[in-house]
Amino acid sequence: MSSSYDVIVIGAGPAGYVAAIRAAQLGMNTLCVDNWLTRGDEKPSLGGTCLNAGCIPSKALLESSELYERAQHEFASHGLSFDKVDLDIAKMQKRKAGVVSELTGGIASLFKANGVESMAGTGQVVDSGKVRVTGHDGKEQDLEAKHVIVATGSVPVELDIAPFDNEYILDSWGALDMAEVPEKLGVIGAGYIGVELGSVWSRLGAEVKILEAVDEFMPIADRDVAKEALKTFRKQGLNVELSARVTAARVEDDKVVVEYTKDDETHTETFDKLVVAVGRRPNTKNICAKDARVELDDKGFIDVDDAYRTSLPGVYAVGDVIGNPMLAHKGMEEGTIVAELLDGQKPHMNYDAIPSVVYTAPELAWVGKSEAQIKAAGIDYRVGQIPFASNGRAKAMAHQGGFVKMIADANTDEILGVHMIGPYVSEMVQEIVVAMEYKAASEDIARIVHGHPTLGEAVHEAALAVDGRPIHFPPKKKKKQ
Ligand code: NAD
Repeated sequence: MSSSYDVIVIGAGPAGYVAAIRAAQLGMNTLCVDNWLTRGDEKPSLGGTCLNAGCIPSKALLESSELYERAQHEFASHGLSFDKVDLDIAKMQKRKAGVVSELTGGIASLFKANGVESMAGTGQVVDSGKVRVTGHDGKEQDLEAKHVIVATGSVPVELDIAPFDNEYILDSWGALDMAEVPEKLGVIGAGYIGVELGSVWSRLGAEVKILEAVDEFMPIADRDVAKEALKTFRKQGLNVELSARVTAARVEDDKVVVEYTKDDETHTETFDKLVVAVGRRPNTKNICAKDARVELDDKGFIDVDDAYRTSLPGVYAVGDVIGNPMLAHKGMEEGTIVAELLDGQKPHMNYDAIPSVVYTAPELAWVGKSEAQIKAAGIDYRVGQIPFASNGRAKAMAHQGGFVKMIADANTDEILGVHMIGPYVSEMVQEIVVAMEYKAASEDIARIVHGHPTLGEAVHEAALAVDGRPIHFPPKKKKKQ
């Protein structure tokens, strides 16, 4: 093992492992250092939060729990009946663990295939071009590199009033690893994690209550989508309490007692487990030695310029650690770009066309600006909105809830934002990302042939509806002049 590299990447999450692979592809002698240890067996594992304790395991459980829910409540309408559907949580968790280990092992293989050297341990930037790695056995090594890329991600925000013990008060990782379905599950925060994991355990039979401090549901989503989502989730049995600020949580007699205020009144509720999902913060603790001048911004993210350079020459940062949106796909793209910049290329990333997805059932997905943002910017716009109830494929699948809403500039017809709630909209949103990257007009989508019968036809119809001419849904009546 060498002690000098072209590139050392600290962190093997989506931003870091992609940066390392791309740098190696471009001929740079690359080392990726990562300190992740799996809870329980304490084994090193590549892939960061996304693969080990976030996106991937949560999607595995979302899939399993959705099948369980559908087997109980939907299959009969297809003429499929069972005496009883058994739930084997241990098996479900084992499948999830298998998916995770295949994918994390896959990164190790990709590192090998691309010639990336991998080291288990904690990397610390000591100075320009200098990294100290402390192994899990405590041994230190001083390494050198022409370029250092910090991709240390983010960690769950811990509330002083409800510190994690991961037995009763769980972080998002703990919430994925429960061995039994709790009878009553409390969740603090109705953000991405709260609604996704709340849905999982609710479908598996828990009585779930989500306590959300603000009075709006999912303020980052378009209001129409958020309204429809809240209505649907409540119908599914998720008890979402808005304007409910948790002020205390304590463990008593194998339960968690939670106090929250709503409308100036204090309420007390007891749960078997409590999940705290109130956001994530950048992971910068001890990442840089005291004398290494890597500046942070006022929110604690590593401050970078538009070429991902930190204030310390030769040190770069990408992914969650440099700021929002904290999304794996944003980090991956930044990882690619930083490596290409080091190679002297001139890559570009469009931060206005990053898709967002909430993996509930129905899913929520959007890209571009919400109607409220467009209104606030004073832009004249037109909206086309088409419900999945008018889509043949959705009907055949018995997934008729939700809609596609397209917003276009009233003067230029350029698509400004598309907001969807419905089946597989996580896949459908990509059509719009491509369209927006090419500055497409709604008319462009309206003129493109969409396969039939597909869910994507709802996008086509929404584009037609922007111009008041949908075919498979009645057009809005024109107001008389
Ligand atoms: P979030 O920021 O999405 O939501 C946190 C919510 O907690 C907010 O609505 C906030 O108002 C509420 N809250 C804060 N303090 C509270 C209190 N004391 N009482 C009640 N409510 C309180 O955070 P998250 O759900 O923890 O997700 C963290 C990050 O992970 C996000 O930035 C997200 O981008 C990422 N993530 C993305 C996905 C996805 O892309 N599908 C999935 C999971 C996580």
